[in-house]
Amino acid sequence: MNANFLQTPVTYLKGVGPNRAETLQGELGIQTYRDLLNLFPNRYLDKTQYYKVGQLQRSSADVQIMGKITHIKTVEQKKGKRLVATFIDETGKMELVWFRGQKWIRENLKLNTPYVIFGKCNWFNGVFSMPHPEMELLEEHKKGLKVFMQPIYPSTEKLSARGITNRTLSKMIQQVFLETKGNFSETLSESLIHVLKLLDKSDSLLNIHFPKNQELLAKAQFRLKFEELFYIQMQLLIKNMLHKQKIKGFPFDQVGELFNEFYKDHLPFELTGAQKRVIKEIRHDLGSNAQMNRLLQGDVGSGKTIVAVMTMLLAIDNGYQACLMAPTEILANQHYVGIKALLDKIGISCALLTGSVKQSARRPIHEQLESGELKILIGTHALLEDKVKYKNLGLAIIDEQHRFGVAQRSKLWHKNQFPPHILVMTATPIPRTLAMSLYGDLDISVIDELPPGRKPIKTVHRFDSNRLKVFQFIRDEIKKGRQIYVVYPLIQESEALDYKDLMDGYESIARDFPLPDYQISIVHGKMKPADKDYEMERFVRGETQIMVATTVIEVGVNVPNASVMIIESAERFGLSQLHQLRGRVGRGADQSFCILMTSHKLSSEAKTRLETMVRTNDGFEIAEVDLRLRGPGDIMGTQQSGVLNLKIADIVKDNDILKTARYHAIQLLKTDPTLEKPENLVIRHAYAQLVKYKNIWNYIS
Ligand code: ADP
Ligand code: MG
Repeated sequence: MNANFLQTPVTYLKGVGPNRAETLQGELGIQTYRDLLNLFPNRYLDKTQYYKVGQLQRSSADVQIMGKITHIKTVEQKKGKRLVATFIDETGKMELVWFRGQKWIRENLKLNTPYVIFGKCNWFNGVFSMPHPEMELLEEHKKGLKVFMQPIYPSTEKLSARGITNRTLSKMIQQVFLETKGNFSETLSESLIHVLKLLDKSDSLLNIHFPKNQELLAKAQFRLKFEELFYIQMQLLIKNMLHKQKIKGFPFDQVGELFNEFYKDHLPFELTGAQKRVIKEIRHDLGSNAQMNRLLQGDVGSGKTIVAVMTMLLAIDNGYQACLMAPTEILANQHYVGIKALLDKIGISCALLTGSVKQSARRPIHEQLESGELKILIGTHALLEDKVKYKNLGLAIIDEQHRFGVAQRSKLWHKNQFPPHILVMTATPIPRTLAMSLYGDLDISVIDELPPGRKPIKTVHRFDSNRLKVFQFIRDEIKKGRQIYVVYPLIQESEALDYKDLMDGYESIARDFPLPDYQISIVHGKMKPADKDYEMERFVRGETQIMVATTVIEVGVNVPNASVMIIESAERFGLSQLHQLRGRVGRGADQSFCILMTSHKLSSEAKTRLETMVRTNDGFEIAEVDLRLRGPGDIMGTQQSGVLNLKIADIVKDNDILKTARYHAIQLLKTDPTLEKPENLVIRHAYAQLVKYKNIWNYIS
C-alpha cells in the first residue's frame, strides 16, 4: 500500500467518530492509519488458553473465559458507584466490575449473549471478580484474526474512560489490515533485508500486531527496532553531512609557530596517547573547510584543559581569536589562572571576563578584543553580552556543556559573521549509546586514558554512626598536609532543610576541628559570588584545610592537594553527581579517598548507586549504570531530545541493534551519500516520508 493511503485519517475507520479521533490524537498522537500501525504493543499476553470459571485460582494471572452476562446492576459505594455484572459459564459464576466509563458500558453490553472476556481475576467477598475486563462478542471473536499472543497497547485513563480499550485499538488495527490485505510497501533496501536476514515490512507489521508465534514476534521486533534506529542515525548523519557541506568554517591550515613552539618547549608533561589522538582529530576538523562541531568527552582529570590550550594556539597561529566559556566564576577563574600560566611562556595575551569584573576593567578588554590585540578571552556567560565583540573569533570552547542551553550556544555562534569552530568539553560521561543517538550529528572525541601515575581513588561507604572514625581519618590526613572536602546535598525542593543540614554539619565540624589548629572554608549558593570566591581562594591557596560546601564545587575545581572527599547524605545524590564530586580529589600524586556517608535507610536504587561508586572509578561504566537505573529521560540534557519518543526500540536494551544500525547507516552514506542508486531508492523514499511526517519522528531540531 502506498504512503498516501497510510495518511488516511482514522475517522475513516468503522466506529471512529470525531470524538474518538480527538481522544486518540490527544492521548496517543494518532491521526492516521500510519500512526495506528506504528502504535506498537508494550507487551503480549498468552491467549492460547480458555479457562472455565470453575478452574479459576485465587492467584490467577490474566485469564480468558467464555460465558455470558445474566444481569447487571449499579452498586453505590462510599465514593461514587460501581457497575457490577454477573457472568456465568457452565461451571460457575463470577462478577465483572467497572468503576469508570459505566454509562457507555451499560448502554453497550448485551445480556445473555456469549462473550469472550479477558483480564485479571480478584478473589473478593467470596466471589471471583474481574475489574474492567476486555470483552468481545464470541461471534466477533471467531471472525477476528486468530490471535495467539494478545498485544497490549499503551493506554491512558482517558482512553479507558472513553471506552477505547485495548480491544478497540486492536480492532482498529485489524481494520487497517483488512483494508490493505496486509500489504505494506517496503521501507528498507533489499540488501539490508538480505544481509541482516530481516523480516519484510508487511510480515513485520503483521507479527508485531498479531504475532503468529514467539519466533516471528521476535523477528518482527528486531526488524522494526532496527528500522527505527537506522532512520534516526540516517537523520543525524545526513544532518551532519549537510552541515559540513553548507557551513563553511575558517580553514586553520597552518600548524604554526606557536603550536609547535609550545609543543616542543613548554608542554608541562608528556601528553597521553588519548590526548595526542584527540588533538589530531581536532586538527583534522580545523584543517578541513567545514566548521568544526565537536564534543570532547573526558572523565574528570583526564586532561582536557591542555587540549583546549593547544586548540586555541592553532586558532591564533591562523590569525584568529579564541574564547573559552565556563559555567561558573570559580571555574572560569581557575581556567584563567591555569591557562594564563601556560600562555605567558609564549607571550600570548589572555583576559578574564566574568560578571564580577568591574566596568572599568571591562572597557580595555572590549577594546583590545575588537582591535585584535587580545587573543584569548576566558569567562562565564558574560562572554555572551552584546558588548563583547571580537575582531575575528575563530574558535569557541565551551566547558561542561550541560550547564548551557542550546540557545546560549547558538548565541555565541551568531556573534560572528562566520560561525567559529566549536569545541564542547564535558566531563559528564555520556554513555556511548546515548551519545550516538543524541549527538550523532556532532563529532565526538573521547579521552579515555588518565595521565600516568594517578592512583585510583579509594571509595568507601560509611554509615553516619561511624562519624567519629571518619573524623579521626580526616585528622590524620590533615596531619599529612592534605586538604579535605565535605559536601552536602542541596536539592531545590528542600532548600531550607538542606541549608540547616549544611550549617549543622559545619558547626559540628568546627567543634571537632577548632581554631587555631584548623581553618575551615564554607561555600554555598546563598553567598555572594565575591565571598564564595574568597573562601574558595583560601582553600586553593592551602590556607584552609577543610572545605565545607554544597554542590557548587561539583564542576571542574582543581586543588591537587585535596585528597579526601566526604559526601554527606550520599544516598540523595545521583550517580553522575557523585562521580563528578569524587573527581575533585585524586588530582595529585597522593592516594586519595572518597567517603560516602549515609544513614541506614537506603532504597535498593541508592544501594546500587553506592555499590557502583565503591566498585569502579570508570565514568563511562558509571554512566551506563546510571542510564540503566534512571532511563534516558533523566540524563542531563536529554529531556528535550527525541530519544524519549522512540516507538519500539529501547536506547538501553537495544544497544547492539543501535550499533548495527549506525554501522549500516554510515556504510550506506559512504557509498551513496545522495541515495541515488536504484537499490537505495526505497530508503530515499522512506527517509523523505519520515522527514515529511515529523509527527512520527521529531528528531530534527
Ligand atoms: P579535566 O579533564 O578534568 O579538565 P585537567 O585538564 O584539569 O582535567 O587536568 C587534570 C590534571 O592533570 C591537571 O593538573 C593537569 O595539569 C594534569 N594533566 C593533564 N594531562 C596530563 C598528562 N598528560 N600528564 C600528566 N599530567 C597531566
Ligand atoms: Mg576541566
